[in-house]
Amino acid sequence: MERASDNDPLSFTLENWQREIAPFGEAGYRARQLYSWFHSRRVLDYGRMTNLPGPLRQSLEQQFPLRLAKATHKARSRDGAVKYLLCAADGARFEAVFLPSRSGASLCVSTQAGCSFHCSFCATGTLGLTRNLTAGEILHQVYYLANEHNLSSYRVLLMGMGEPLANTQQVLKALKRLVHPDGQACSPRRITVSTVGLRGRISQLARELPGVALALSLHFTDDSQRQRHMPAAKPFPLGDLFDELITSEGLGKVTLEYVLLEGVNDTREDAAALATLAYSVVPRQRKAVPPSRLRSRFRGFNTYHVNLIEYNPSPGAEFQPTPYAKAESLQNYLKAAGVNATYRRSRGRDVAAACGMLTATEPESQRK
Ligand code: SF4
Repeated sequence: MERASDNDPLSFTLENWQREIAPFGEAGYRARQLYSWFHSRRVLDYGRMTNLPGPLRQSLEQQFPLRLAKATHKARSRDGAVKYLLCAADGARFEAVFLPSRSGASLCVSTQAGCSFHCSFCATGTLGLTRNLTAGEILHQVYYLANEHNLSSYRVLLMGMGEPLANTQQVLKALKRLVHPDGQACSPRRITVSTVGLRGRISQLARELPGVALALSLHFTDDSQRQRHMPAAKPFPLGDLFDELITSEGLGKVTLEYVLLEGVNDTREDAAALATLAYSVVPRQRKAVPPSRLRSRFRGFNTYHVNLIEYNPSPGAEFQPTPYAKAESLQNYLKAAGVNATYRRSRGRDVAAACGMLTATEPESQRK
């Protein structure tokens, strides 16, 4: 059974609350009411929980204060994305992004303040890690964005600052609250966890949250290049990583994420190796073979979806994005090889809200 953590009431399970409020002499159904205020109605203020007796609300306020992060800055992109900078009581800063689209809204949230993984193409990686976020802080971002934008349904993307599976315990706690039928009752299929891939953690995620979608930050198709640009990938080479992916029963949709860096990972050899990996086979050698050859070699195999991502350079970045025409030709190659591939154009770039640009800083003009 999960234990309640003393200072994070938002992460308490229903059973935690039943135990915690029993000493107040309240009936057991009060715990369910409280849980519903937090997780179904997204009310994060004891004072507004009007069906709870006043003395109980005061006791809760004193014994389980909600120390919610404050939104200190908001930036709206021309394309409709809205980025929020949140500041916790201890000064930890992290960002969350609202992404509207015709098919519904997505809420992109952070799981760590900063990140210790230092991927060469990611501005967040230059910050280093301040600390892991608690389950309550992760949930608060979802509820805050959903309330701000008046949403009853949404997708959740754990693609903000940090590596979610480096903070597995708190991430799983938060996601279990999100899917709970007495809470937001989010389908796990509408939750995507993005990860570089940490040994044992993908299978744990699949076991504990069946159906959850996984976005594997692949970005390079051979170990030496991947480990150079993503040092955290060193202990988990591609062969082992794909073994774990294939054997992680219960995982929902898996997408291979691939950021296109001009002249670095966007050749025909890269496209052939990427298509081969999409068929769950780690290529032994890298060759620019015609896509039709791959299609016939892997006939009858299942493929992972590949998401090619437009690179968003931050100031001082060492890379450039692959030009659109070339990105399109790589996408066409993958399709001709029988792989389902999409190309994701950047969202929120003008307010540094796009993939790999989150640095938890306010624009210079608004700094004190
Ligand atoms: S890409 Fe993800 S894991 Fe890598 S540095 Fe950025 S936030 Fe960290």
